[in-house]
Amino acid sequence: MFESITDKISNIFKNLRGLGKLSEQNISEALGEIRSALLSADVNFFVINNFIQRVKDQCLGQTVLQNVTPEQQFTKVISDELIALLGNETAPELSSKRPLKMLMVGLHGSGKTTSTAKLAYFLKNKAQFSLPLAIGCDIYRPAAIDQLEILCQQAKIDCYVDRDSKDAGKIALFGLKHGKENGHDLILFDTAGRLQIDENLIHEIKDIADKIHPDEVFLVADGALGQEAANVAKKFHEAVPLTGIILTKLDGDSRAGAALSMKEVTGIPIRYMGTGERIEALEIFHPSRIAQRILGMGDVVSLVEKAQEQVDEKQAKELEKKLRKGKFDMNDFLSQLQSIKKMGPMESLVKHLPGMHNANIDSEANDRVKQTEAIIYSMTPRERSNPGIIDGSRRLRIAKGCGLSVQEVNALLKNFKQMQTMMKKMKNSRSALASLLGM
Ligand code: GDP
Repeated sequence: MFESITDKISNIFKNLRGLGKLSEQNISEALGEIRSALLSADVNFFVINNFIQRVKDQCLGQTVLQNVTPEQQFTKVISDELIALLGNETAPELSSKRPLKMLMVGLHGSGKTTSTAKLAYFLKNKAQFSLPLAIGCDIYRPAAIDQLEILCQQAKIDCYVDRDSKDAGKIALFGLKHGKENGHDLILFDTAGRLQIDENLIHEIKDIADKIHPDEVFLVADGALGQEAANVAKKFHEAVPLTGIILTKLDGDSRAGAALSMKEVTGIPIRYMGTGERIEALEIFHPSRIAQRILGMGDVVSLVEKAQEQVDEKQAKELEKKLRKGKFDMNDFLSQLQSIKKMGPMESLVKHLPGMHNANIDSEANDRVKQTEAIIYSMTPRERSNPGIIDGSRRLRIAKGCGLSVQEVNALLKNFKQMQTMMKKMKNSRSALASLLGM
């Protein structure tokens, strides 16, 4: 899988020797090579630009670590950002609704019918479901119905088809009724595909979705399509909101463009991946494992992680000291924000605070953190260490620099002042920090 980009990237890392402290100049050659490796893997151009910019920002904000070379640190940044491109976390578990209804959509030849049978087989084997049912809703190609039946036989999955009906919506509805009456706990609807997205195809999928109210809508997309797979997903998503992507044909020499462009272009997570024609060849899509496969430097990444943990501990102790002395400034604040980000999803952190149970907290909190970081990045080093000097004209300049309003800059400074006071009284810097973010 992704052999070509893996080869290219590992060559880039082989040539990284003696970088010295990471700087824009000394990483620029490697970044140029990474850019061209991503371009030839057919990753979306805007995705590449954002990726390179994030890597630069991360590298320049790195603390020098003991026992770790700058090249190793650089590798870790690339690894983190690759994982982010692939979607960060593994997608959430399936809902506990029964029967769970999954609508499978996609272009002709993407691997939809095969993936329908594979997914039923996979989930049955994982003991998540005991009695899946696949429903054939392709009324145009009798061969597609035959194929679904054959695959279901191989997978020992029940199958519902109606060769006489010319109404896909009705087949779906009758199939669903049949499934419910017969105690099926998972029902997958295999729909027709076309060579391209057209009005009839979208109309038919919408009709089926309106009738059956699916819990999951999976777009099956051919990984060999490269970044075009992300455009296909975007168009389907506009018609029927997708809950996930199944990326197929990632075996062989498939390029990484589809996997690396999908999440950033569409916002939809890749949930499963097809890795061969056999019924067993379906796996959960784990961004970190895939990133590791592409980068092939797992040991370096864990080495840097360990060194970072040590620095975090040291920083925490220094912070305690500053807190006690009341010397907490914007630089400390920034490094605290960054260490909080490293702790993973905001939701789990914020949920521990009183009155914070609302479901959107994760994205709200992350946006707030990003805004706050942008404001601090627009300050000069002197302003960061002496926030007291930030007068009206400095506020205006900072607001312009980060593209936010003066009111937002004012709000941060006001909260920061309150927090400094509060921090002197509080042992727990995290709660004070959360209050600064208005969470
Ligand atoms: P549909 O038209 O979208 O229903 O596509 P099919 O399920 O008929 O699949 C089209 C072709 O792709 C078939 O020959 C499948 O065996 C093959 N296929 C599907 N998924 C994979 C995969 O993950 N890897 C490989 N190598 N082939 C696959």
